[in-house]
Amino acid sequence: MARVYNFSAGPAVLPEEVLREAADEMLDYNGSGMSVMEMSHRSKTYDKIIKDAEADLRTLMNIPDNYKVLFLQGGDSLVFASVPMNLMKNKKAGYIITGQWAKKAFAEAKIYGEAVELASSADKTFSYIPDCSDLPITDDMDYVYICENNTIYGTKFWKLPDTKGKILVADQSSCFLSEPVDVTKYGLIHAGVQKNVGPAGVQVVIIREDLISDDVLPGTPTMMKYKTHADNDSLYNTPPAYGIYICGKVFKWLLKQGGLEAMKKRNEEKAKILYDFLDQSKLFKGTVVKEDRSLMNVPFVTGSDELDAKFVAEAKAEGLESLKGHRSVGGMRASIYNAMPIEGVKKLVAFMQKFEEENS
Ligand SMILES: *Cc1c(COP(=O)(O)O)cnc(C)c1O
Repeated sequence: MARVYNFSAGPAVLPEEVLREAADEMLDYNGSGMSVMEMSHRSKTYDKIIKDAEADLRTLMNIPDNYKVLFLQGGDSLVFASVPMNLMKNKKAGYIITGQWAKKAFAEAKIYGEAVELASSADKTFSYIPDCSDLPITDDMDYVYICENNTIYGTKFWKLPDTKGKILVADQSSCFLSEPVDVTKYGLIHAGVQKNVGPAGVQVVIIREDLISDDVLPGTPTMMKYKTHADNDSLYNTPPAYGIYICGKVFKWLLKQGGLEAMKKRNEEKAKILYDFLDQSKLFKGTVVKEDRSLMNVPFVTGSDELDAKFVAEAKAEGLESLKGHRSVGGMRASIYNAMPIEGVKKLVAFMQKFEEENS
């Protein structure tokens, strides 16, 4: 068996240790005589799995008691709808447009109310984060929405916008658990776990308790109400049980690595290797302004579609997988999430060096 270095943006690389443990437990979880996949979500054994997962996530992120943690399903794209359904009391909210996922969230919000574009970096193909120090936020807005790490374009909000007292809602899908965050700065954080944490099919929503209520937009389905899931500890109906179990293992793995401070250090070290190479390369160019670069998703180009395609194909032959950029932007993208070992980044850079010598 040969494992590759998988640079996919998502679903993405998971810690090998976690996969091995899950494999060992596949037929008999902890003496239960069955797989977690086959287990009642109402059983004592599963209850401990989901409770431990939540407790470990709370420890990792230092989540205050007045925030609820919800494990939901439907894809993170469904949260684009549940946010306005639950939070748009005045039917008005501000959106900062920094890429495809922010655009999609914005379009979804428009179905339910007045979604206002507060700032955008569309003018330069989303290669930077706009200045958010004095946004045209009005008093009647229910929240301000950002996509904190832009998976496709490789930008990151290193400074949160001034929301002028409004609730901040953040999509953290592709930077979730990559570094410490101050949860108290947000009203709601959401993340699809398939980017940095687990298998597709689980979204985590971390929401301040006072924002959870029955006062939702008329017609909101029961399953889309945060209160439904908060009141039932994410066990209102069958949750994405196996996915939550794997997330729980990744949370434990992260704690063992030293938590989010340690991950941040490691992620900075990995990203630096790649960015330092890009900054001196004559063939490869990073596409993002320096101060807004993501630690997780690193897009780059050669300037020639032909060379880009050659690079992706030859890299694959070397066991460096899924380096093709998003279909909407082309070029290359290396996603170097928590579970990407530093050896993978070093091997990528060594290969880029070699490719550069051979092709210039
Ligand atoms: C992948 C991604 C999504 C969409 O996730 P789905 O689970 O496929 O709906 C949303 N936001 C960001 C930032 C993403 O990277």
